[in-house]
Amino acid sequence: MKKKIVIIGAGFGGLRTLYNLEKHKNRFDFTVINKTDYSLERPALPEVAIEGKPVRKTQIKIKDYLKRRGINFKLGEVQKINPEKNEVVVDSETIPYDYLIIAPGAIKDYDAIKGYREYGYSVCDDKEAVKLYERLKNFEGGSVVIGAARSYFSNMVDVPALKAPCEGPVGEVMFMIYHKLRKEGKREKSSINVFTPGKVFFEDVGDNARNTVAKIMEERGIKLHTNKELVGITDKEVIFKDGSSLPANLAIIIPPYKAPDFIANSGLGDDMGWVPTDKTMKHITYDNIYAVGDINALAQPKLGHIAIIQADVASSAIEKQEGLTDEIKPFKPEVFCIMNMGGFEAILILSNALYENEYDIAWHSPIAKLMKISFDEEYYYAHGKLPPDFMLEIFKHLIEKMFGGK
Ligand SMILES: Cc1cc2nc3c(=O)[nH]c(=O)nc-3n(C[C@H](O)[C@H](O)[C@H](O)COP(=O)(O)OP(=O)(O)OC[C@H]3O[C@@H](n4cnc5c(N)ncnc54)[C@H](O)[C@@H]3O)c2cc1C
Repeated sequence: MKKKIVIIGAGFGGLRTLYNLEKHKNRFDFTVINKTDYSLERPALPEVAIEGKPVRKTQIKIKDYLKRRGINFKLGEVQKINPEKNEVVVDSETIPYDYLIIAPGAIKDYDAIKGYREYGYSVCDDKEAVKLYERLKNFEGGSVVIGAARSYFSNMVDVPALKAPCEGPVGEVMFMIYHKLRKEGKREKSSINVFTPGKVFFEDVGDNARNTVAKIMEERGIKLHTNKELVGITDKEVIFKDGSSLPANLAIIIPPYKAPDFIANSGLGDDMGWVPTDKTMKHITYDNIYAVGDINALAQPKLGHIAIIQADVASSAIEKQEGLTDEIKPFKPEVFCIMNMGGFEAILILSNALYENEYDIAWHSPIAKLMKISFDEEYYYAHGKLPPDFMLEIFKHLIEKMFGGK
């Protein structure tokens, strides 16, 4: 009889694990459980909010596509996992598994910020991105404040402690807003202030990448405020924990990240509700449960690229458990992202400064922008599949050769 693999979440991590293991369809039956009938490509949401990209181009329709490939798709929201009984509870249904992949991402906790619902904007979800797009249509210039709120993590597993798990979108939004305001002749009557809860902006990369961004911010008059923990937003300012504030006609926020409650309710979380795993992405207590992507306590920073790396490790670990391979891929996290800057500009960042500290590259070039556009198109039309690994490896090799590592 075929073994049952159940995947919770059809985002970067869940889909990658599925597509990796799909070649063993003769041995496994797959069920994907997802809250929506589409997979949301979050990295494209700043383009929806600021450049007017149609939101449907970020919502990859997967329900019928997966069904056509012989994958069971359950539309619904997981409420609980019973790890002792090997079953997942979705609405009123119970779905059994032999292997479970937990990949529901992180919840963006807008309600943790006082005044957010009335006065705040964001790019982290499709609804929020569209709301910001509508706001920008009638923004005549003024004080713009952009930043990430503080998130909290446990130290149960060995992972760098970050105050903001994903500041890339802050970088994108500040440069894209700068470009938009200039293009519309509103830059002179506007200020752009950026804040971070960290001691430095972009805690997850090294000095080289950080300094490249800092230099462009300075040239463009974008001011940085460090050690600022957001507590509230009003109609005219953002307020920080230390009692200070910044004037804000428009506040664009990356809210705190938190783990969905069903993890803690199922007894599978660490003391902050994230899933603790070993470096093969296997749960520290259960041999047949894996976690990949933002939900995994080892995912720091919380990036699609790290979700993909973890999915590759987890797939190979399951293959090893099933005697289909001898080797489990090693977990080698790194930051790899392309920060859109509006117009024909982007910065590509490739850095493992937080981990092995071998490379820390930032490449400001129109070619990076072209790469971002082609990645988004490919990801959308290929239903969440990525370019083949060898292309990525060649590309990373070329970048390291060009920049000599640091
Ligand atoms: C604005 C923005 C820009 C970003 N840019 C980049 C970038 O340039 N590069 C990069 O590498 N990363 C980027 N990231 C981070 C990246 O989007 C995330 O790290 C990545 O999406 C995490 O993948 P995941 O599979 O863990 O979760 P997700 O992609 O969030 O997918 C989780 C899935 O699980 C489903 N789900 C959740 N709860 C349940 C439940 N209870 N039951 C059923 N289904 C559920 C959701 O509907 C969703 O489909 C960005 C993030 C944001 C917000």
